[in-house]
Amino acid sequence: MPANEKTPASVYGAMLKPEEAEHELRGQGARITAQRRAVLDILHGNRTHPTAEALVDEVRLRLGCVAPGTIYNTLETLVKLGFVRRIDGLEQKAHFDPDTSDHQHAICLQCRTVWDVGPVEHPADVPAGFTVLNTLIQGICGRCAHKTS
Ligand SMILES: [Zn+2]
Ligand SMILES: [Zn+2]
Repeated sequence: MPANEKTPASVYGAMLKPEEAEHELRGQGARITAQRRAVLDILHGNRTHPTAEALVDEVRLRLGCVAPGTIYNTLETLVKLGFVRRIDGLEQKAHFDPDTSDHQHAICLQCRTVWDVGPVEHPADVPAGFTVLNTLIQGICGRCAHKTS
């Protein structure tokens, strides 16, 4: 397979490629500033499913200062371009995932850790013609369960 061929989105574990994303951002007229580069850098290989706020904090740690608007903007553009998946509904805040492959998520409602999980079986009584876009699993992780018991 040629090195520049895009990994199909259906392969579980396909990750955002910073160089590719940078190229596309440029194509959208975005200047590649230190902040934008930091966002790509932080998201690269990242499996923590950060919220926008968590990303802003990370960029601030690296660069000392940050304009949250720029970060939100960059995230939005990356989602629009298909490099990052926005996960709504796990909790009030959206989480962001640079792994755009077909997978689902489980969140611990106590420590708010998010895990990647494989495709979830759809309930048998989903109405005919109904396309399931998202399955969310909310629970308490083993560590938190242990702490409270
Ligand atoms: Zn937990
Ligand atoms: Zn994920």
